[in-house]
Amino acid sequence: MNTSDYLKHISPEVEKFREEFRNNKIPKWYIPELHLSTNIVIIVSVFSYCLYNISSPSFTELLMIPAMLIAGNFFVWAFHKYPLHRPFKIMPLAYKIHTLSHHYFYTDEAIIYRDKRDFIILFFPVHFVLPVNGVLFPALGYFFREFGILSSNASYLMIFMAAMYLLLYEVFHFVSHLPSTSKVLKIPFFLSAWKHHRVHHTIKYMGKYNFNIVFPLFDRIFGTIRK
Ligand SMILES: [Zn+2]
Ligand SMILES: [Zn+2]
Repeated sequence: MNTSDYLKHISPEVEKFREEFRNNKIPKWYIPELHLSTNIVIIVSVFSYCLYNISSPSFTELLMIPAMLIAGNFFVWAFHKYPLHRPFKIMPLAYKIHTLSHHYFYTDEAIIYRDKRDFIILFFPVHFVLPVNGVLFPALGYFFREFGILSSNASYLMIFMAAMYLLLYEVFHFVSHLPSTSKVLKIPFFLSAWKHHRVHHTIKYMGKYNFNIVFPLFDRIFGTIRK
């Protein structure tokens, strides 16, 4: 998108916030390609590690797949509604990065990014993806296996699906920040996610509605959906 097209979509107040953020908060050394490729390497490594260890899973073990899709949907709803939109003393950074930065950088009227350097405030940072998907879930899997809580296959499917949910989140969230004219939005599933997330980016609704990203299951269950 060229500069004049971009500025047509962004109000001067939002652009002022963005310029200040770009000048003061995005480190000079930030390389968007490195940010994304590091996250991809972590996710692909987790996938490979799990697929290498899974062998002939039973039907019951495969139920971990839908179970993790539902658990991931709930986790995103709860994490997004609470620590990301309420200032919790134990994790002040979550609120700061999400509500005070992501939501003022991207509003319902200015949902699109300008260039790749804006990805710093669009995609999960490496310091979330590595500890959560690269360390926490593999450690949980190990614990569940060692203590006989889950079978080996089920534990690796859990780790695999946690990484898959993060990937789905990133893809759907990225699509939700594309211009309304983007060809990708011709895909109905992506278009409804885009509309859902755009409502969430309205400043007066952000703390109340549309916390899901991939599919609004728990927004429906808990009545936090708004069209
Ligand atoms: Zn967003
Ligand atoms: Zn939000």
